[in-house]
Amino acid sequence: MRRSLVVGNWKMMGSRAGVTKLLEELKGYLVASDQASIAICPPYVFLPQVSEDLRESGIRWGSQNLSQYDEGAFTGEVSASMLRDFGCDFTIVGHSERRSLFGEGDADVAAKFVAAQSAGLTPILCVGESLQQRDSGDALEWVKQQIIAVVDVAGVEAFADAVVAYEPIWAIGTGKTATPEQAQQVHAHIRGVIASLHAGVADSLRILYGGSVKADNASELFANPDIDGALVGGASLIAADFAAICRAAE
Ligand code: PEP
Repeated sequence: MRRSLVVGNWKMMGSRAGVTKLLEELKGYLVASDQASIAICPPYVFLPQVSEDLRESGIRWGSQNLSQYDEGAFTGEVSASMLRDFGCDFTIVGHSERRSLFGEGDADVAAKFVAAQSAGLTPILCVGESLQQRDSGDALEWVKQQIIAVVDVAGVEAFADAVVAYEPIWAIGTGKTATPEQAQQVHAHIRGVIASLHAGVADSLRILYGGSVKADNASELFANPDIDGALVGGASLIAADFAAICRAAE
């Protein structure tokens, strides 16, 4: 039985005052549950505040990105061990905004995945197709290639300590959600790709759906056997909405 996971991706949003308020509201709405884990991924600069405010709350936290390097002359970068130092459990790798806006390719994503695990972080590996790829019938093959690119570098056993997030690019921040059937099809496909290499790892792998998840569509997504939770962007910035999504995952 896989425990659900709901992760909020705050993207580049917020202010110190706004974060204080949002964290207070989240702690008011959310209590730790046995059925679902909850985490938020704020911008780096808010990690000290988050690690202080969420201590003993049951809500965990992570980063939206990390460096593939351990240490050194890499101006502007943040390493996995620094993130661990601030209590991060998770890090998002390969978000489509990193891939499309910052030129991260499969090799970078695989290197970040490995760097994260080396420091004890659980990578949340994002994969997903563009609208053009979906319309031309290439979605399943594309997603498989994105998974295999990481398996080739990290090994399939590494997925025992990882999370995958299926995020169709056309659904991120657009208000368009994949139908539960579309999402379930890709999630089952991802699990099948891993199962063809290691059945046990596939069985325990949590696969989140991301792309305009809201309080009113979360339940029908989570009702599917291969959807183990969500990676939530916009709705994670509204405490009541994020809490409703978390409750739907329980
Ligand atoms: C995301 O940023 O990963 C995401 C899924 O965003 P949204 O929920 O706003 O579509």
